[in-house]
Amino acid sequence: MINEKLFRSPMRIPLSKPEILPEDIAAVGRVLDGTQLSMGPATTAFENRIATVVGRQHAVAVNSGTSALHLAIRAMDIGPGDEVITTPFSFIASTNCILFEQATPVFVDIDPITLCIDPDQIEAAITPKTVAILAVDVFGHPADWKRLEAIAARHDLLLLEDAAESLGSYVGDAPCGSFGHASIFGFYPNKQITTGEGGMLTTDDAALANACRSMANQGRGDGGWLSHVRLGYSYRLDEMSSALGLSQLERIERIVSRRSDVASWYLEDLKGIDEIVVPAVVENVRMSWFVFVVRLASSFTRSDRDRTLYLLQECGIGCRDYFQPIHLQPFIQDALGTARGQFPVTEAVSDRTIALPFFTEMTREQVGVVIESLSSVVAR
Ligand SMILES: *Cc1c(COP(=O)(O)O)cnc(C)c1O
Repeated sequence: MINEKLFRSPMRIPLSKPEILPEDIAAVGRVLDGTQLSMGPATTAFENRIATVVGRQHAVAVNSGTSALHLAIRAMDIGPGDEVITTPFSFIASTNCILFEQATPVFVDIDPITLCIDPDQIEAAITPKTVAILAVDVFGHPADWKRLEAIAARHDLLLLEDAAESLGSYVGDAPCGSFGHASIFGFYPNKQITTGEGGMLTTDDAALANACRSMANQGRGDGGWLSHVRLGYSYRLDEMSSALGLSQLERIERIVSRRSDVASWYLEDLKGIDEIVVPAVVENVRMSWFVFVVRLASSFTRSDRDRTLYLLQECGIGCRDYFQPIHLQPFIQDALGTARGQFPVTEAVSDRTIALPFFTEMTREQVGVVIESLSSVVAR
């Protein structure tokens, strides 16, 4: 029997919630008090701060993480006939950006511990058409960059880091957003810091940064407002968003430390629950925790998981399956001919994931309520 008290619980815990403090509101207000709402000092300051935080030479602010991915692919001159090795266990944008430019995504299955692309399986997928590897720091856990960089160097491939979920994570001393030829961040409201909508590209390659900056701004060069030197887009980030991002970035250490407290409360409370597999963090990694995704044990089926999600939601607990495999999205199946069975680790993981409520301001008590509901639901 499900615990009736939980169903009637007045406490509703959202899956995610941005932390907006008075100083954030003041920072946005200061922009609105002026007249420069785009292409001004807040955006430059936000770019410079990100570049410093991740130790890159250049940062280019754009209006979404997806825009940053698109510009990186274009600036790397990846197009029709080119293959890009990537992961099927990600948010759709990391595959869509390859399709935007008529290049071909080639999926490689994931490591069952980190849930990031499995370096052991990459070389078998390399063909004469392979030009790049696009790896994702899944849920904030860095991919195996040391090995990815070695593989990319050995085969003369470009390497792109989708760090949209990993701002604040480190491998040793190296921050996410510093790996490969270029990295991107996203600042949607569920990320570690938010600008509402927004994104950033970071790189040490000046020519790549300049091309991205120009393409984000309608293909303008140095020749004036109505002079366009290449095909461009309207991907700029505005000043209000930049001010919000900068204000949040100033306290990134505090945000990461709070999120790590929340994660440790979850890990503590989940210890006794055999039905649940908790997220792993490998040695030498500092995790900044984008989301907190657990899995049902392998004896459970996808429909067990779906029922668990339903019952948790009935208890007022925000939760979601996270991610659905990209190779099983119907439009990807139509475009690439992919099918169930091709990437068994991704499929086995996806079938059992449960993203639990997770946000910077989450309290010890809220974690306790989530776990009480989850234990009661899985015990049935
Ligand atoms: C959030 C996210 C992005 C970027 O998303 P936008 O909504 O375009 O900012 C890209 N890749 C991954 C893996 C993400 O989680």
